[in-house]
Parts: sequence; structure tokens; C-alpha cells
Amino acid sequence: MSHAGGKRRPIVGGNWKCNPATASSLDELCRNFDGVAPYLDKCDVYVCPSNLHVALVKDNFTPGVHVAPQNCNFKGCGAYTGEMSVDQIQDLGLGWVLIGHSERRGEFGLPTPAESNQLMATKLQYILDQGLNCVFCIGEPLSIRQKGIQAVLAECADQLADIVPILRALQDKSRVVIAYEPVWAIGTGKTATAEQAQEVHAFIRNLLADLFDADTAKAVRIQYGGSVKPDNARELMSQPDVDGALVGGASLDVRVFSELIKNSI
Ligand code: PEP
Repeated sequence: MSHAGGKRRPIVGGNWKCNPATASSLDELCRNFDGVAPYLDKCDVYVCPSNLHVALVKDNFTPGVHVAPQNCNFKGCGAYTGEMSVDQIQDLGLGWVLIGHSERRGEFGLPTPAESNQLMATKLQYILDQGLNCVFCIGEPLSIRQKGIQAVLAECADQLADIVPILRALQDKSRVVIAYEPVWAIGTGKTATAEQAQEVHAFIRNLLADLFDADTAKAVRIQYGGSVKPDNARELMSQPDVDGALVGGASLDVRVFSELIKNSI
């Protein structure tokens, strides 16, 4: 888990969100990930294709790149129209799933029901019970950031509170990666400064140390997400508690993504 320098093994993810529009674009997008191959011995890489495209692309990436759906059900198969079950994800041979992205926590700008912390905890429990690993997203909206850093930290602690018992019971805590993504920096071009990211990451790590122990705090990887680009990746990743990046827009431009990974390790 640790790599030279005492930090954890970096993990960089690409979130394609609801893109691309045409299945005919997928081959090129997948092939372009070949550029990350030289870095896979030093860095974990995952891609989150849109749910409709997961099965189409899952075998088309350079070996070692993980495919992690952007969401999942809270239970197995059955009468859950419109959902994708963890069981189905597992059956496709996938080992990771991402949940709790802010765009599912009520940031579409439409009155769609926001996914709650409690629902995230239910999903996480089921994901782990089924043997999958999870990228668990948290992060504050702009209205909270504007209240100041104490409000930001309280919001992060609140978004993690429901999963504390789950993490406590989990033997291998590295199966959960926390992605801290300030909502005001997602897709806006506005990145948190390296200091702002480090401040929150250090808080989360200290919280893990208080809730669990120093070994847990040391083992859990915390990614930063929010307008990460090749030119800001190095500074963000050089922060002691930033273990990688979750990248939206830039992950669709693959030369940019390889460059970003190069700058993240
Ligand atoms: C994201 O979708 O998780 C994200 C961080 O997006 P972007 O990099 O485009 O801000």
C-alpha cells in the first residue's frame, strides 16, 4: 500500500459522467488509456464509464485499469427498476464501484431526490459484503464553503458519520477510498488550492485516527477531485495527505489524462 516516501500508493480515477454521446466514440476513448500503461506499477487507475457503457468497454482497457461504475444499487437483483445491482457489477468481473458523487447528492439543479448519507451507508455495506471495493465521494457545496473552514470540516465529518460503524467492522480498510470533492470545484474550472485540499484531507485523516487508530488513518487513501488538470496535479499530489485525483472533464481527453497521471506520481 505504501510507496517510497511513506505516502500511500496513488490512485487516479477518471469519471466520464454521462459521456460520450455515441457508443462509436468508446473505442477511441478506451484505446487512449493505453498511455497510462507505463504508470500502472506506481499508481492505481480506474475509469467510471456511464452505466450504459460499462459492459461495452469493460474488456477494452489496457490491462490493470479498473472499471468502476458510477453508482450502484443498495441491494441485490429484483424489482428495482432502473437500478444496477452490485451483484450484476460483480458478475461482470468488476472489483470497484464509485458512490456518493455530488451529482447524485442533489447537484443536478433539478428537483431530483438527493441521495442521502444514510443511503450511501446502505450501499457501502452491501458493496463490501459482496466483496467489492468502493470509492466513496464526499464534499461540501459552495454555500458551506462560504461559511468558513469549520463548516466545511463539519460537513465532511457529517458525510462520513453513517459509514463509521461499517469502516470499524471492515478488516481491510484500504478497500474504501475516500474521494474529497468540493462541489464548488467540480466542472467549474475552479480548483481548491493545494493548501485548501491538504487542510481538508489532513482533517479527514485525523478524524480517521481519532475514530479508529493511526494505522487505519495511514492506510486509507483520500483522493482529491475538482477541476484537476495536468498543470495543477503535481502541486495537489505533493500534499502529504492527498493520495490521488478523481478527474471528470479531463478524463475524456486521454493525452491529458496520461499526462495528469504522470504528474500525480
Ligand atoms: C468529477 O466529476 O468527479 C470531477 C472532479 O469533475 P471535474 O474534474 O470536471 O471537476
